[in-house]
Amino acid sequence: MLEAPMLEVADLVSAYGRIEALHGVSLKVEAGEVVALVGANGAGKTTLLRAISGVQPIRRGTVTFAGQRIEALAAHRRVALGLAQVPEGRHVFKPLSVADNLRLGAYRRGRAEAALSLEHVYDMFPVLKERRDQAAGALSGGQQQMLAMGRALMSRPKLLLLDEPSMGLAPLLVEQVFAVIRRLAAEGVTVLVVEQNAFAALQIADRGYVIETGRIALSGTGAALIAEPRVREAYLGL
Ligand code: ATP
Repeated sequence: MLEAPMLEVADLVSAYGRIEALHGVSLKVEAGEVVALVGANGAGKTTLLRAISGVQPIRRGTVTFAGQRIEALAAHRRVALGLAQVPEGRHVFKPLSVADNLRLGAYRRGRAEAALSLEHVYDMFPVLKERRDQAAGALSGGQQQMLAMGRALMSRPKLLLLDEPSMGLAPLLVEQVFAVIRRLAAEGVTVLVVEQNAFAALQIADRGYVIETGRIALSGTGAALIAEPRVREAYLGL
């Protein structure tokens, strides 16, 4: 039998009061894939990620995670199943140390397991180890992004949802963030990443979806979308 997709969203509708932001979105992420979701400002990318992680109510549709329907579960239950989100703008706890920020990401797990995860995160982001005793607020923007990703990894997710990880970062750091995403995938973490930086995201993605005003307009491999005239013109500035 075929393995169930890691994530399957079907006919999802979500609204803010009377304003419908998602008009029936469907997408799929297979285990081990990096999938990029690209689109203009206000297209509904953040709303979709938040609906998947359970912090945004939905009106209709289903969210299936590794074969299990989860759209009725509270957000913390989804985390426990293996779904972690890194919100836009990072939201690290600035007065707390880097190490304490990371430990918060493993609050549901035992001490021994958390310690193992911490070593794993330090291995992936050596700069966090160097700065483990410093306040998170003292880190640069790129380092805070690494910290937010590291914190999400502390729960040992199967699926990581990343909202605009390259936002506000210098080009060199953008490259680093995308390299980390590939490394996560190589280690078996499935990734759904939302990006304004469509070119960089599609370059590292196995597949991508283009969302326009609350609807999926196009999908395909990262390479096929980069080659697509409509994508080149509207999102890649080529
Ligand atoms: P951005 O890149 O700017 O974050 P996005 O693609 O993530 O854009 P969303 O933030 O999901 O888009 O917004 C989708 C639609 O929902 C937009 O029309 C937006 O104005 C609307 N919207 C988002 N948040 C709210 C809110 N809290 N209240 C009302 N409308 C909202």
